[in-house]
Amino acid sequence: MKLQELKNIDIAGKRVFIRCDFNVPMDEYNNITDDRRIRSALNTIRYCVDNDCSIILASHFGRPKKKFDPDFSLKPVAKRLHTLLKQEIKMAEHIVREETIEIAKNLKPGEILLLENLRYNDGEKNNDPEFAAKLASMADVFVNDAFGVSHRAHASVEGIAKHFDVNSKAAGFLLAKEIKFFHHIVHEPKRPFVSIVGGSKVSGKLEALYNLVPKVDKIIIGGGMAFTFLKALGHEVGNSLVEEDLIPEAIRIMDEAKKLGVKLYLPVDVVAAEAFDAEAIAKHVTVQEIPKNWMGLDIGPASAQLFSLALRDANTILWNGPMGVYEMDKFAKGSTKVSHAVASSFATTVVGGGDTADLVRVTGDEDEMTFISTGGGASLELIEGKILPGVKALVIEED
Ligand code: AMP
Repeated sequence: MKLQELKNIDIAGKRVFIRCDFNVPMDEYNNITDDRRIRSALNTIRYCVDNDCSIILASHFGRPKKKFDPDFSLKPVAKRLHTLLKQEIKMAEHIVREETIEIAKNLKPGEILLLENLRYNDGEKNNDPEFAAKLASMADVFVNDAFGVSHRAHASVEGIAKHFDVNSKAAGFLLAKEIKFFHHIVHEPKRPFVSIVGGSKVSGKLEALYNLVPKVDKIIIGGGMAFTFLKALGHEVGNSLVEEDLIPEAIRIMDEAKKLGVKLYLPVDVVAAEAFDAEAIAKHVTVQEIPKNWMGLDIGPASAQLFSLALRDANTILWNGPMGVYEMDKFAKGSTKVSHAVASSFATTVVGGGDTADLVRVTGDEDEMTFISTGGGASLELIEGKILPGVKALVIEED
């Protein structure tokens, strides 16, 4: 798959529309609490500024229930961009009204206009052709740098791309980097290739599991999803998270791994609690001894040790999903130990998924990872082997 990249198209002096992912976390006072997504877009924006482009930036933010809800305005993002880029960031009240399009058309080289939250307009999610056409009319060139939404066929991601020919649209630096990493890891990983899969449910990652098993040498399963597998093996798991209807799928995945000689690891011990509560009484038990009415909320120390040992010879590690309810300190130890083990390995380490990215920041291992993906859903779909709609629009050659 060959992606059209920003560095390969002529943008000098042109009007460039850049779809970014500025969906940053904010506190109740609308303060940005983590501006990584904004900083990740700076390379592409600066490159366009340096090429004398006039720039239109666009992003969604959260899920506004009503139009122009001020809590979902991108104004705080404009302020942060101003601080980081040290230049004025213009904003327009509306997204695709005539006056906004006029402002876009009258931008001078190097000037930046940030559109309001795209999700104020229903046309964004519905991939409305008229909305996409109006967005497209603002620019000569379309750049997608929003990996986190590239798995969605939304107007500013997919519909808009139809209005530009192959030399007038491209992947920004961030998107290109994300796609390259995942393409490399899924198609030509250095072996042994170990995948760690965690998080709450099997259902959310079933296809990813099916796609990973034939590709990896080892697969480590932790988090809530491990209990469906443990139950499938006949363990009594109390009130732990189990998807009964997926037990046959769990058996199929384990059989497939066995058939292919892939080593599959499950927790051997857990931290169990009486309730899903940070204050609940908890104890460390083997998976054979989870008390009735108790639930496993983290992997235990023996499992963390086992998983770390399994990671020792890895040359590639792909990690998606925490090992326990890491949001509560009491149940974060397993994820923390696995994070340290991944960080201290000599492997190429790719961390995908919002939760896991968050986790490695909290554990202080962020800088030790080779690559942290900005998109959870999008990275899972790449692992599932899908072509993302936002990426398909920018492909010049299929494999
Ligand atoms: P996901 O979005 O599927 O990656 O799941 C992430 C969530 O899984 C986190 O919010 C964790 O709290 C949750 N999680 C991890 N382990 C467990 C568990 N043993 N029981 C319930 N929830 C869990």
